[in-house]
Amino acid sequence: MPSTSAAPFDIAIAGAGIFGLSIARRAIQQGLRTVVLEAGHFGAGASGGLLGALMPHMPARWNPKKEFQFQALLSLEDHVRQLEADTGLSCGYTRCGRILPLTTQDKLDHHLERAEESKTRWRPEETGFSYVVEPAGSRSDWLDSAAAPYGIVYETLAARASPRLYLSALAAFVRREATLLEGVKVVGYDETLGRIALDGQSDLTARHLVLSGGFAAFDLIEQFVGERIGRGEKGQALLLDGAGLEDKPAIYCEGLYVVPHGNGTVAVGSTADRDFTDAAPSPARTAELIARAQSFCPSLEGREVLTEWAGIRPRCNRRDPVVGKLPGSDKVYAATGGYKISFGIAHLIADCLICDVTGEKPQHPLPQTFQPGHHFGDNLLRSDQ
Ligand SMILES: Cc1cc2nc3c(=O)[nH]c(=O)nc-3n(C[C@H](O)[C@H](O)[C@H](O)COP(=O)(O)OP(=O)(O)OC[C@H]3O[C@@H](n4cnc5c(N)ncnc54)[C@H](O)[C@@H]3O)c2cc1C
Repeated sequence: MPSTSAAPFDIAIAGAGIFGLSIARRAIQQGLRTVVLEAGHFGAGASGGLLGALMPHMPARWNPKKEFQFQALLSLEDHVRQLEADTGLSCGYTRCGRILPLTTQDKLDHHLERAEESKTRWRPEETGFSYVVEPAGSRSDWLDSAAAPYGIVYETLAARASPRLYLSALAAFVRREATLLEGVKVVGYDETLGRIALDGQSDLTARHLVLSGGFAAFDLIEQFVGERIGRGEKGQALLLDGAGLEDKPAIYCEGLYVVPHGNGTVAVGSTADRDFTDAAPSPARTAELIARAQSFCPSLEGREVLTEWAGIRPRCNRRDPVVGKLPGSDKVYAATGGYKISFGIAHLIADCLICDVTGEKPQHPLPQTFQPGHHFGDNLLRSDQ
């Protein structure tokens, strides 16, 4: 542990998931003296999972949030390649594309409209990414054509990364350039003195504190602001042996993702359980995930299950992540609630948050619905939304 008499850190980050470690990398790049405080080990939360789907929002009813995510997915590849070059570690990233099976005439009509809108929103001539409807029977070597009687959408913007490899590369960078302390839980902060209270250990001092503890960050946020703005939602995934399927696109079908990875595995997930008593993977859920995936992907039949995993995702009551300074505070920031899209947007979230700290202009402005003002006070909606 650093001694409490040491010079204060410029910034302390509570939580070493994809948000916390991405923020730490950006802080270090901006020359801030940075410490990451992690209650367990890095990747102990939802970020230590298996799926790694980096999926765009649909190109319909465009808004600042969709544009932010679009920009994030456009810039993520360069970001990841730079991290890989800095650390010599692979993040398992590939622009794999995605298939969406069309099961009804309504869906076909709907996606034909989206394909049309993608020509304006995704700017294919400039970006090279397309969203097209293909006829029934397309890509039937991977997606059972019976599962897509009205054809498919094939889009080329979607990518995948290995969550564990991506996180390990970030953690290696932070360890090398700054301080990453594991087994250190943040329990409070005296803003006047800049003193961070740690569970069972001596305090340390930092000029700014970022709460990026995933779903547990909502407890600390409530402690600081007096409002609970989010919750945890359980999800489950598994890895199958996927030898020979490495180059296949991801599939998204009826809420389920199938994501082939470059190491010869296929990740399948996730479910959403708001009410859960146990954070461990449930064997019944695993069986259900496998059966559903095999029903539209016959090449998954007979594949060995390599790993089962469950995690608790942070979800804000108002859906979008909360990123920025807490109401009434000058020094405490929140960065959580990425729910299903954290991996694709974390690097831009980190840029926005650190720019907020340093007073610089972010690469892309944070959507209004990501800002604390959207999540607290009069805007607080019922938690059952
Ligand atoms: C089954 C499943 C599949 C998913 N698939 C995808 C996907 O394909 N693509 C995608 O983008 N997202 C996916 N997600 C969502 C994604 O995993 C989460 O949104 C993301 O990991 C949240 O990251 P985080 O950094 O906010 O929180 P976490 O990863 O939960 O990290 C929080 C960290 O903070 C630590 N911590 C908590 N409290 C404290 C404290 N007081 N002091 C210090 N440390 C603390 C925890 O130990 C933890 O390590 C999936 C989630 C699940 C469950």
